[in-house]
Amino acid sequence: MREKVLKIITYPHPTLRHESKPVKRVDADLRKMISRMFELMYEAKGIGLAANQVDLPLRLFVVNLAANAGEGEELVFINPVLSRPRGSEESEEGCLSLPGVYGDVVRPKQVRVNAFLLDGTELNADLDGMMARVVQHETDHLDGVLFTDRLSETGRMDVDDALHEFTLEFQSRRETGDIGSDEEIAQRLAEMEQKYC
Ligand code: ZN
Repeated sequence: MREKVLKIITYPHPTLRHESKPVKRVDADLRKMISRMFELMYEAKGIGLAANQVDLPLRLFVVNLAANAGEGEELVFINPVLSRPRGSEESEEGCLSLPGVYGDVVRPKQVRVNAFLLDGTELNADLDGMMARVVQHETDHLDGVLFTDRLSETGRMDVDDALHEFTLEFQSRRETGDIGSDEEIAQRLAEMEQKYC
């Protein structure tokens, strides 16, 4: 398989709409990709990054609420499943795949997560606050959902121009060959799924 340097992909890259498959094995290559995901997240000043945001079809994401290497706690959520949503709260969100775009999203205030950590330990935790928000935003990514899908009608109108700009930029990068065709992307995702899912 062709080696590919991981980069954060931006809207409307098709992998952002890919429904990620559960991970069945973690090998040294995948560990390297996960540590690269943390680097990319810190470079972009983010607090969460899902695998499909670096063009990987795998059901995992990384989080560090401190947004800085060497600070806070680095968490890898593998095969996360959310349950027991409680309450409702509106808060502003952004996304590393939509740099510069922000909007208010209503989500449950608390949620329970079941996931596996990188060392294979099973995690069961009731989350609230920023962690609950990030975990829901990132789990959405794994289902091919973006925060802009969850905006109110007026919130969506506010970001429409920006989304259109991203679309034009994406089309021109495709014309220059910087981004592959849908078929090429789908084939690479299928190869990765065969290896890890
Ligand atoms: Zn995001």
